[in-house]
This record gives sequence, C-alpha cells and structure tokens, in this order.
Amino acid sequence: MMKISIAEANGNLGQEIPFAFRTTAEELGATGDDFSFVGEIAIQGSLVFTGVCYRVFGEIKAVKAFACDRCLKECQEEQALRFEEEFRKAGEDEPEALVVEGDFIEITDLVRDTILAAQSLSNLCRPDCKGLCPVCGADLNEGDCGCDRFVPDPRLAALQQLMNDKED
Ligand SMILES: [Zn+2]
Ligand SMILES: [Zn+2]
Repeated sequence: MMKISIAEANGNLGQEIPFAFRTTAEELGATGDDFSFVGEIAIQGSLVFTGVCYRVFGEIKAVKAFACDRCLKECQEEQALRFEEEFRKAGEDEPEALVVEGDFIEITDLVRDTILAAQSLSNLCRPDCKGLCPVCGADLNEGDCGCDRFVPDPRLAALQQLMNDKED
C-alpha cells in the first residue's frame, strides 16, 4: 500500500509536497504473461493541494525483463514512466477525479495502471531485430549464417520447373 498523507498539503496551498516509495511488481500486482520487473520499482513524485483538488504527479522507475519475441534473447530495459492524476474529497460531485479516502491518497492502483498501460504488445531487443534463422536457428543479428532462407512461391517453382524441362 502506498499512502500519501494530505495533512501537510492541506496547510500549504499550492506547494509541492514530495513523496517517494519503493515497491516490487509482485506487491503491486504489475505482472504480465511475457515480461516481469527486476528488483525494486521506485516511485517519486509530489502532491499539491490546489484548493479544489489534490494533484499527484511524478515518475516511476522500473527495469523490465523479457525475452525478445524474435530472437528469444533475455533482455532488460530501464523504464521511466510519468504519471499524473487528480484526487478529490468524496462528496464533491466530480466523476472524473479519484476520491481521497480519509486523510490519505492511495496511489497503488495509479502506479500499477501506469506501468501496465505503458507496456508495448511486442517485446523486442531492438526495433530492427532480425530474429533467428528458420533453417539453422542462428541469431541473424550476429551476422548471416549463409543458409538459403528463400521460400519459393509454389506456382513460380512449378513454372521454373516447366522452363527447366523445356531447356532439357
Ligand atoms: Zn531480438
Ligand atoms: Zn541459418
């Protein structure tokens, strides 16, 4: 649970009150089928009471671990994800904003949703990963293995055969 007290912000209208948390993907429930996060996830941000609402913003730092979709290499990627959200006290009719419960703002859901929403559908070691050779399994990023990976169109192959037969 990551709870920020609103007491200090209440007495300091417009001032940025810093906060920091450390957690893990397991604690957050920020897990995926084809990736995980290594070690601790660090959250740093500020809380501001605007007089109308509580603005919470900051940055999440996490290290994502995954196997490349194309070459299967184990990779790690440092991520810095921005978040920003407004919270209001219950009772004020603001459907857009999240509600402050008691004297605390709970940002666990905000952090988890920010992390999960930022993950791309594909996991690549680099955008132009060449993948593995379908013939010998070599990593084509490390150079060409020399295999003939040309897959002929069966119709063209038939035509080629026909022409070869004529030449004979
Ligand atoms: Zn790759
Ligand atoms: Zn090959």
